Amino acid sequence: MSDPQISIDLARIEHNARTVVDLCRASGITPFGVTKGTCGMPQVARAMLRGGVRGIAESRFENIRRLRDAGIDCPIMLLRSPPLTRVEELVRTVDISLQSELQLMREISRVAERLGRVHDIILMIDLGDLREGIWPNDLVPTVEAILELPGVRIAGVGTNLTCFGAIIPTRENLTQLVAHAQTVEIMTGRPLDWVSGGNSSSLPLLLAGGMPSGINNLRVGEAILQGGRDTFLTEPWQALDRDAFELTGELLEVKTKPSLPIGQSGIDAFGNVPVFVDEGDRLRGIANIGREDVIAEGLIPTRPGVRVLGASSDHLVLDLTEADPPLAVGENVSFRMNYGALLTVMTSEYVEKVPMRDVRETGEAKTYAIETDAIGGALVVVQDVAQRIEHLGFERGAEDADKTLTLSIRARKRDVLPFVEEAGRRHDALGLIWIDSDAAMMPDGEAGLPPPENAVLSRMLTCLPPHIAPENIVLIGLRNAAPEEAAVLKALRLRVFTMAEIDAVGLRQAMRDAITLASAGTRGFHLCYAPTATDMSGWSGGIGGITVRETHSAMEMAALSGKLRSLSISGIDAALPSPIGAECANFILSAFGKTIL
Ligand SMILES: *Cc1c(COP(=O)(O)O)cnc(C)c1O
Repeated sequence: MSDPQISIDLARIEHNARTVVDLCRASGITPFGVTKGTCGMPQVARAMLRGGVRGIAESRFENIRRLRDAGIDCPIMLLRSPPLTRVEELVRTVDISLQSELQLMREISRVAERLGRVHDIILMIDLGDLREGIWPNDLVPTVEAILELPGVRIAGVGTNLTCFGAIIPTRENLTQLVAHAQTVEIMTGRPLDWVSGGNSSSLPLLLAGGMPSGINNLRVGEAILQGGRDTFLTEPWQALDRDAFELTGELLEVKTKPSLPIGQSGIDAFGNVPVFVDEGDRLRGIANIGREDVIAEGLIPTRPGVRVLGASSDHLVLDLTEADPPLAVGENVSFRMNYGALLTVMTSEYVEKVPMRDVRETGEAKTYAIETDAIGGALVVVQDVAQRIEHLGFERGAEDADKTLTLSIRARKRDVLPFVEEAGRRHDALGLIWIDSDAAMMPDGEAGLPPPENAVLSRMLTCLPPHIAPENIVLIGLRNAAPEEAAVLKALRLRVFTMAEIDAVGLRQAMRDAITLASAGTRGFHLCYAPTATDMSGWSGGIGGITVRETHSAMEMAALSGKLRSLSISGIDAALPSPIGAECANFILSAFGKTIL
């Protein structure tokens, strides 16, 4: 049995972000995208940024750290006041935060001054929803007090609605916000950067043309993630896509049972007295999803006829009598979710998160491009690489075209860096599979210098984001790593298949996992290959590495996946014996899809 999974379609999220951004732009509004519904998943943030949001807003430090770790360097807004003990982290990691308590702002100012910084805040004003915000009567004295704080700058004012009191945004209450903003501008003597008019629930007003001018920011999560499933309840905004997320579980039991429990009734596992309706005998199913994972009431089955009856901690009980087509044990059942259910699923450790991208690429064009230095060029000529690639049905194409499979052959590993960087930029989001005996993760540019070749990957990691993210990078075939490199690899949480692990699970399994990781939420991957990864007869460079046959197998799998976008071979030199050069050319052809038959 596999764990329940939630698939996350990044293309739909990007589309929704773009739709919201375009609507906002027409009214002079610059929105931030809110990722808290996905626990700050970096791929989701990147999809929002591609869609044009100005920055990312988050409610938790853990999520912000996850975003920053993944190399996301856009402005980040914290949506919630931090506890006093985490003020330093706030000042260090967050560009702007929503605030409503003077005591906390005093502490922020103190810490910011100590760190030599000024922290930007958006002063929250409560317009009646009764969650966060100062009361409008307190605005003037509060602003006066803040103006005394040298470490804090009022970058804007904002409000939050429809969260606690279910008060909806209207022209009236948001006009009040604009008036409060003007008051603050008069007091500070300068224009505010932001007048932040709420969350997704402000979009219906914007669509209806009722947004007062002067509002220039919204913080939008639900409408981008869920396509407004909860925001536009009665009149959906058709331009948004509601199907970015899908939860899938497996049916562990399917049996016909009566609809009324038998025996004396007490309370259920959660302290409630359940009520049942007698519908006679029904076909019931149990899926491997429970209250540990989801608010079951927020699940919407995708298959017609399936009904959710309830859930205990680990079991979801379904009525399958009218499922169309019918469902059997061992089959999958899938669900859409409301926002509350989504939040719980994304937080559950038991649900596997699978970012993906609706495959829009159709009809693979078979074009290729090659770039080399002198040594790589010699290899191409001697081994007749271009012509052999053309025999496989490829035509020479433009290097910068999306669908061209590009190849770089260079002596020094560091020289492929610009090539990989360019591939990342061209494909927008790319994974990286690094097949090499060495980690190349030595810290760059310190005294007692390692040769630059030993720092290539660490250097790559600083210049590749946001196009290539650490969670999409996999190392295969590692057998040499200095202790400091091992430490860096662990800290970065890169997936590494060492030779020891390849011995244990086999190269095919390692490569299968690598392709999955490198392709998760990307448009494909780049493969970096260094010949020292392979143990080739008569050459000491690769002793202890994967076999020639395994190397071919890895290349063939890359080709078969349909996700290989570019390939680089480096770490070769003029002294490389010619049989090794010939073997490298054969590996290249395998990566271009050559098979034995
Ligand atoms: C969660 C949150 C948002 C985003 O709300 P959505 O309904 O997901 O758009 C905006 N502002 C604050 C203060 C929030 O806590």
